[in-house]
Amino acid sequence: MKIRPCCEAFENLMSYAGEKGMAIVPRVRDGHRQFYIQARPFERSSVATLSAIDPTTITNKWQVLEAASGQIAPFVTVLTLPLKCCPSCGNILQFIIDNDIEAFDETAKDTAYLWRE
Ligand SMILES: [Zn+2]
Repeated sequence: MKIRPCCEAFENLMSYAGEKGMAIVPRVRDGHRQFYIQARPFERSSVATLSAIDPTTITNKWQVLEAASGQIAPFVTVLTLPLKCCPSCGNILQFIIDNDIEAFDETAKDTAYLWRE
């Protein structure tokens, strides 16, 4: 079962889920279904290396990087933005969700790990 995309750009963005750059990721949260844009400045695999500073010693809620000078700087590993319309063709995404809820839920389940970081 697979979500039927509205256009090639949407399909491409869905295929980039979890990779560095922009992607579209479905999510079911509190029974609400929504597509999100996720923007990642780093590969997911490199975040663990970048987060080498012990997070329990830091009171800042953000993950941090340490510069060569010793200065600590917060960084963001992922930005998310809920989408109502396809950023490429403008299609209303609720139609895609309603068209095949089972496919949406299955895809959201497959990418649920992307929200646990
Ligand atoms: Zn589209």
